Amino acid sequence: MAIMKKCTFCKRELKEDAVLEVCMDCGRGIWGEKMLNTIIRNMENARESGSLMQGSVGSDSVSKRKAA
Ligand SMILES: [Zn+2]
Repeated sequence: MAIMKKCTFCKRELKEDAVLEVCMDCGRGIWGEKMLNTIIRNMENARESGSLMQGSVGSDSVSKRKAA
């Protein structure tokens, strides 16, 4: 089921596969382009590994995809 996500700040609708609860524009304003991309990548890695570890964004421990 798709849950419509909205940006925490501007209430704009987000893509349903968005990993953050803020839109790209707001994220850029908060973290800056580079940091935003790093955060998104970390979130996507965490989601792929099946464990969203909240509060540990920035750890780079997810370096490899799960070996099937
Ligand atoms: Zn926004």
